[in-house]
Amino acid sequence: MIEIRDLRKSYGGTPVLKGVDLTIHDGEIHGIIGLSGAGKSTLLKCLNGMEPYDSGSVKVEGTEVSERGTGRQARAFKRDIGLIFQGFSLMQRKTVYDNIALPMRLWHYSKDEIDGKVRRYAKIVGLDDKLDSRPRELSGGQQQRVAIARALTLDPKTILCDEATSALDPKTTASILTLLREINEQSGIAVILVTHQMEVVKRICQNVSVLEDGRITASGSVQDVFVHH
Ligand code: ADP
Ligand code: ADP
Repeated sequence: MIEIRDLRKSYGGTPVLKGVDLTIHDGEIHGIIGLSGAGKSTLLKCLNGMEPYDSGSVKVEGTEVSERGTGRQARAFKRDIGLIFQGFSLMQRKTVYDNIALPMRLWHYSKDEIDGKVRRYAKIVGLDDKLDSRPRELSGGQQQRVAIARALTLDPKTILCDEATSALDPKTTASILTLLREINEQSGIAVILVTHQMEVVKRICQNVSVLEDGRITASGSVQDVFVHH
């Protein structure tokens, strides 16, 4: 569970997050929708510890992000959240296999464990026949599947998707969203989907929060929020 209370963050005196309240329950698919500049990326960075915040509270599995310290606890925390970005952030010179294996290598998993998991997750995302390919040989949708497989390898409780489908055509977007829903249904991993695309939220999210100019202005089931707006 993720609990954000009165979160505030400024850049150079300019407030970007102006008191954000948001709860993400275990196992849900939660959309965060907002226009460009609303503060979505900043919110995600505060959530995964990439950016410090000025005040308020961000709790992931009961631990305050700003107080998670260093060493083992901080490392364990990082594993709880998998990240998927718009630009895929894959290593272009490495194979699909090596891209998926990277987080596990950083965590010193054994060779056998890495091999088993790479093959298992490649299969889940439908790329088990592409393990020796390089990212540039793959379509955008296939590259995003590599990023999804990579995000799953450390068994996160939540995956954060930041505009993960924005660069994809509608058909590929639909297939990626279906994959995310299958992963959510089969493993109970919560999915936070940050997007400016209403269709994306309507397609797979149970709940949605609207971020406008640094504040959550509506939050609830997709039906409730979109009927009243
Ligand atoms: P979104 O993801 O919704 O497009 P962002 O969180 O990226 O919004 O940005 C919100 C506002 O904060 C924008 O006005 C942006 O220019 C500003 N901003 C974001 N990151 C920084 C930064 N590192 N330094 C200064 N301003 C920033
Ligand atoms: P996004 O589409 O995810 O919002 P942006 O293009 O807004 O991405 O931002 C890209 C990167 O630049 C982010 O890391 C963001 O924090 C940073 N950034 C955005 N706006 C500013 C700004 N005004 N000054 C400095 N860094 C910024």
